[in-house]
Formats: sequence, C-alpha cells, structure tokens
Amino acid sequence: MLRQVAEGVLIHQSEFCQSNAVVVRGQAGALLIDAGIYGYEMACLANDLSDAGQTVVAGFSTHPHWDHVLWHAGLGAAPRYGTARCAAAVRDQLSDAGWKARIAEWIPPDIAEQMSWDLFGLITGLPAETARIPWDGPQVRIIEHQAHAPGHAALLIEERGVLVVGDMLSDVLIPMLDVDDAADPIGDYLAALRLLEGVAGDVDVLVPGHGSIGGADQVHARIDQDRAYVHALRDARVPSDPRVGPSATFDWMSGVHERQLQQLARRSERDGTPG
Ligand SMILES: [Zn+2]
Repeated sequence: MLRQVAEGVLIHQSEFCQSNAVVVRGQAGALLIDAGIYGYEMACLANDLSDAGQTVVAGFSTHPHWDHVLWHAGLGAAPRYGTARCAAAVRDQLSDAGWKARIAEWIPPDIAEQMSWDLFGLITGLPAETARIPWDGPQVRIIEHQAHAPGHAALLIEERGVLVVGDMLSDVLIPMLDVDDAADPIGDYLAALRLLEGVAGDVDVLVPGHGSIGGADQVHARIDQDRAYVHALRDARVPSDPRVGPSATFDWMSGVHERQLQQLARRSERDGTPG
C-alpha cells in the first residue's frame, strides 16, 4: 500500500479525499507527515512499517485542520510536531468542551465513525523560526507561511528533491483561503505561493495533501494555476479552472468557491476596502 516517490520517501493515499500520508525513512525510524484519515488505514500503515523493520520516530502535521492531525495508537507515541501556530490553533480547538461535535459537523458521519479520535490533535509546537524538523534522517526544511490555515507549513526534503505542500498546489482542490483568521487572506496566499516558487527549482517530486503526486514539470504549473485562481477570486471573476466546474474531481468544490466569494465580499463590505 506504500508507494515510493523518491529514495526513502513513500506515500500512502487515503480513500478519503485522496489524502496523502508521507513516510520519510530515517536512520533509526521513519518520519510520518499527515498520518492519514481512517483508523484502519493508519493501522495498516503501522503494520507495513513494522514489517519493514521501521518504527515511527517523529510525526508532523502540515496544518491544524482535522484531516491532518489524526493518529493511531499502532503508530506509537513519537512526538508529533507542527509549527507553533499550528499547535496553538489545535490546542485552542480542543480547549472547547464541544470540540468533537464542532469538528464532526464538517465530517460526513460514515467517515467520522471510522476515525480514531483518541489521539486527535496532540501536536507539539516547534518554536517559531525552527528551520528543520528535529529528527535523525534526511534534513527536512520547514517553510511556514500564512495561507490555507494558521501555521501552515510546506516541507522541503532537500536531499530527495521532495516538496510536501499540505493543502496547496493540489490538482483536485482549489486554493482554500483562511478567510476567518488571516488579516489579508488574498495577500497572504499570494505571498505563500511566491515562497514556494522560491524553492521550486529544487523540487523533483511534489506531494500535495490531497490529489496526485506531481513531477518537476508540475511545480510551476500548479503554482500558476493556484495564483490564477486566487486572482480570479480577488477580482470576483469566474475562474477557468478544471478543479471547479463540470469536470471537477469533487463536485462540492464549486460550493467551496461560492462560499469563498461570499466571505470575501462580506469582508470587503465590512472593511470598506476592495478585495
Ligand atoms: Zn486537508
């Protein structure tokens, strides 16, 4: 079930929303990025790793959304890192007594049933400006930015030419802006895309949080596609984007687009500024 995409870098794609979990082999064990969705999938992943003689020595969540902060007891008790902002956002969510019900509102009930909630969101925040994930394996550079969610981070595994981008640069999901939390959702998103563009030359394999793995040729193409979408959203134009519309992989994507348009319109009304 694990597919190698670069030397020592393996992917498991979930049946839920084409979510990609990433395994990076290290000296003494593996780093597991965005572990997965269903309990049975993560249990299976844990088995595959132990069959290969590997244990998980560190975890990382690219951002504080529910589909990126799940875990399974079979994966062990390694520290699960995230940016300080990511950890703070999850902690904030969990401090509300009704957190589970609030999150479950977003999740189809048949999926919520199969999730393992016990170890949900136990993220250790790395101090702000931490450059690399502290672990014994290929160096993993943390590229934090404010785009899709507070403390969202892309990870660059330089020696392997792999860029793990969380919920950006997907071929199936449009950019989903952090309209509630960000001071300038459009500007922040565009800045994050520029940041990713800055490392694009080092990337042979692009791993989005959801969707298909891209080759070197996909990096600029997906950055351009995301930027074009954000520009269309800013200007309240109809995006010509295959990820929304009749040929979209997910039919709910057009609803996401409509909601973003409305949220941004409400914001600019409130602030009295365009966009
Ligand atoms: Zn996601």
